Amino acid sequence: MMHTIYYGSAMDVLRKFFPKKGEMNTILGSFSASAIDGTHGGPYSPGTGLSLAYHYTMGDIYDFRTFRGGIGALSDALVSSLTDNGGEIRYKSTVKRFLTVGNKVTGVELRNGEKIYAKVVVSSLDAQTTFVKMAKEVLLPSDFTRKVNEIKYQNGYLQIHLTLSELPEFKDHLAFANDNNIRWLMAYIRSPEHLQQCWEEYQRGEVPSDPVSYCVISSLMDPTLATGPGYTCTIFSHYFPYNIPNGKHNEYRDIMADRCIEQIAKYAPKFRDSIMNKAVLTHKYFESKFGITGGDFTHGLIQPSQWWDKRPVKGWSNYRTPLDNLYMCGSSSHPGPGVTCIPGYNAANEVLKDLGIKVTAPISTNDKAKKSIFFWRNKAKVV
Ligand SMILES: Cc1cc2nc3c(=O)[nH]c(=O)nc-3n(C[C@H](O)[C@H](O)[C@H](O)COP(=O)(O)OP(=O)(O)OC[C@H]3O[C@@H](n4cnc5c(N)ncnc54)[C@H](O)[C@@H]3O)c2cc1C
Repeated sequence: MMHTIYYGSAMDVLRKFFPKKGEMNTILGSFSASAIDGTHGGPYSPGTGLSLAYHYTMGDIYDFRTFRGGIGALSDALVSSLTDNGGEIRYKSTVKRFLTVGNKVTGVELRNGEKIYAKVVVSSLDAQTTFVKMAKEVLLPSDFTRKVNEIKYQNGYLQIHLTLSELPEFKDHLAFANDNNIRWLMAYIRSPEHLQQCWEEYQRGEVPSDPVSYCVISSLMDPTLATGPGYTCTIFSHYFPYNIPNGKHNEYRDIMADRCIEQIAKYAPKFRDSIMNKAVLTHKYFESKFGITGGDFTHGLIQPSQWWDKRPVKGWSNYRTPLDNLYMCGSSSHPGPGVTCIPGYNAANEVLKDLGIKVTAPISTNDKAKKSIFFWRNKAKVV
C-alpha cells in the first residue's frame, strides 16, 4: 500500500477503499479534489496518491479550519508575539540579494540599497527565488543549482472573491445544502472523471469547459469578515491554464471565472444576481504580487520527486543550505506547503541548535496569540 500511496495515482489508492466502479462518484470526486491540489496532475496521474495522503494527514481528520478575523489574524498574532519578544518587522522591504563573504551569508541588501547585517539569515522564499535570484552572485555547487532549477512549480489556479447580497438557495437534489452548516463550505464534484476532464483540458492549455468550484461563504462562520451588508464568498478552482498565449491572460481569466460562477448558479439560480462585487486573481497575480516562482503557493509541487528528503532538493532537507549562515524555513522545506507553521518551527530549532542556544522554556506568546480561535467544522473551538 505504501508504494501505491507514494507512486500511484489518487484513484489507485481510492479504488482500494471504493472498489466498485460507478458507485460513490461524488464522494470519490471530493477525495480526488484534495489529491490534485498543489500537483501537476489529475486523479489518475501517478504521484497524486502522495498528495492525497498529504492532505489527509494535515489534521487528525481532513478539515478546514479558519481563524476568527481571517487568515490575517494569524499573521497579527505572530507579529505581536515577535514584537513582544523584542523583534522588529520591516514591511515593504524587498530583499534584492544576500550579502556574502566567500561562502558565508552575512546579511541582506534591500531594493532601496540598505544593507542589513545578521548572524543568521532565514529564507521563507521558494528555493529558486532564494538561490537563483538572491544568491546569483555566489558560486553554489553545480549539482545543487541544477536540482534547484529542476524544481517544478507548474500550479495553475484561480480565485474569485465576491460579496453577495443574499445567500445562494440551492434547488432540487442539492436543496439539503441550504442548511448554513453545509452552505458555508461547498464543492460539488460529480466524479473523478469530472476532474480528469478539467485536467486534460488544462494540459492542452484550454480553460476547463466545466471547472470545479470550491466555494466558501466565510462570513457565515465569522460575521466579522463582512464589514458591510451581505456576505463574503470565495471561490477557488484548479487548472487555470498555465502557459497562456501573450495578451490572453485577462480574457482566459474572465472566461474561467464566469464558468466557475455558473457551476454554482446552475444549482442556485439567484446566485449571479446576488453578486455585488467581484475580484478575480490567478497564479499570475500571486507571482507578481508575492514574488513566488510561477505563482506556485506550494513553493515546489507536492510530488514524490519533491518530498521528504528531496525538499527543497535531495541532500538539503535539514533547513541548512550550501551557504553558511543561510537557512530555509518556508513551504519549500519539509514538510511542505499549507498554513502549518511546521517548516518555520523546525528551521528555528535547527538555527538555535547551530547557535548553541538551548531553549529552556517555550518562547512566550502574548494573549492575542493564545486566544487565537479556530473555527472547526461547524463549531467554534478554542485550541
Ligand atoms: C489562493 C490560495 C489559497 C490557499 N488556500 C490554502 C488553504 O486553504 N489552506 C492552507 O493551508 N494553505 C492554503 N494556501 C497555501 C498557503 O497560502 C501557502 O502554503 C503558505 O502561504 C506558504 O507560506 P510561506 O510562509 O511558506 O510562504 P509565503 O506565504 O509565500 O510567504 C513568503 C513571503 O515572502 C515575501 N517575499 C517574497 N519575495 C520577497 C523579497 N524579495 N523580499 C522580501 N520579502 C519577500 C512575500 O511577500 C511573502 O509574504 C493557499 C494559497 C493560495 C494562493
